Amino acid sequence: MLGECHAHMIMDGINYKAAVALHRDGVCEEAVRRHLKESREAGIRFVRDGGDARGVSKLAKRLAPEYGIEYLTPVYAIHKRGHYGGIVGHPFDTFEEYRELVAEAKAEGADFIKIMVSGLLDFGRAGTLTEEGLPGEEIRRMIGMAHDAGMAVMAHCNGDETCRLTLEAGVDSLEHGFFMEDGTLHLLAERGTPWFPTFAPVGNLLGCGRFPDEEVKKNLEMQTERVKKAASLGACIGLGSDAGACLVPHGAGTADEYGYLMRAGVPEETLRKAEERIRRVFRRNCV
Ligand SMILES: [Zn+2]
Repeated sequence: MLGECHAHMIMDGINYKAAVALHRDGVCEEAVRRHLKESREAGIRFVRDGGDARGVSKLAKRLAPEYGIEYLTPVYAIHKRGHYGGIVGHPFDTFEEYRELVAEAKAEGADFIKIMVSGLLDFGRAGTLTEEGLPGEEIRRMIGMAHDAGMAVMAHCNGDETCRLTLEAGVDSLEHGFFMEDGTLHLLAERGTPWFPTFAPVGNLLGCGRFPDEEVKKNLEMQTERVKKAASLGACIGLGSDAGACLVPHGAGTADEYGYLMRAGVPEETLRKAEERIRRVFRRNCV
């Protein structure tokens, strides 16, 4: 089994609020151990976490060797105050505050920096996001400052324009990346930046009744078509399910994501190469 390059140990794949509440008065070790066990039983030996604001992924990294899992974490994700990202990290207003958050993540043992530069999918309305992405200048500064601190950057990013700006700014991996158009896919392929299209949090919604299936299906088909195109251009595409997200359980969610990627025609060798690159680049001072 390949590794899981985008997970959130803080969530349980069922109910976000209940899962996070478990860690209200300190990290619930039992929950972390349960999810590590689920990952292990699915044959996963490598996990890259996308961060959380409660220290859950930090504990997961410490416990992971007991389960034979290599674990990388940004500790928490960083977002601009007033924008999407509060569920997985901490906000900044000024770039001085951003610099401090980067330094603090490093001090807490982060392997890399995770940033949020766009909204998320509006699952009930295909092709739309919950908000606009950040301006290019801010994205460039966020990535540049993390690189200056010797850290690779994983970016939560959706929308064609925001993805293009983020790739141009030299991001080290692009997460979700919904709605990229041809020009941006060419840039992605030219740069060789690993892309994790995270099908599972969308596709696994089919039939659950939370959102209209026809809208879910449209987003899923759009992403499948985009991934097919990117694969034909030789882009670096990887396996990251957003495990922990609603209907994406640890372990089983990774297998679901693998299925979606296979249906989009991504060769297993491509997924393997993306994982190798993540394991090599997403370590401190190895940018
Ligand atoms: Zn995520």
